Amino acid sequence: MEWEIKKGSNGCLLCNKEFSEEEEYYSALFDENKTFIRKDFCASCWNNGKEGEEFSFWKTKVPKKDKPVQTMINMDVLLDVFMKLEGSHETHERNLRYVLALYLIRKKVFKLKSLKRQDGEEIILLSYPKEEREFDVLNPHLKEEEIESLTAEMSQLLNYSYLDHEVLSIAN
Ligand SMILES: [Zn+2]
Repeated sequence: MEWEIKKGSNGCLLCNKEFSEEEEYYSALFDENKTFIRKDFCASCWNNGKEGEEFSFWKTKVPKKDKPVQTMINMDVLLDVFMKLEGSHETHERNLRYVLALYLIRKKVFKLKSLKRQDGEEIILLSYPKEEREFDVLNPHLKEEEIESLTAEMSQLLNYSYLDHEVLSIAN
């Protein structure tokens, strides 16, 4: 397993305070020995400084009871993780970056520009119109099950349960 959510995720990792309804808190991803670990912090512990340097973080909120799970996806988090994974040579991170790219294409954040071959690998060229940037993404030729399981891991880690079981694909 390359992903882990620190147990006791209903509360702050540092002071163990349980989050209450509608409380705002911070979730952060840490890269600890090639394992992404998500840790949650209450606002005051976060502001007092946590240990270690996070890979990415986002502010979130405990949903109101009896309310349907919020379906707004924080695209900024996905984009941030995508950008920080650029240049990684670690297989799991490359695979994750590819799955994130597929998702962001589907959500029309990225546009698929072209495919090219380079050193026997297939590279997808993406544009990000909002910032007029372009990205190369290595196509790791994942099987559908691998894409599905990465998507499930990613959504679990980021708490986007509604991403579950959505199979992502682009035209083959
Ligand atoms: Zn705390």
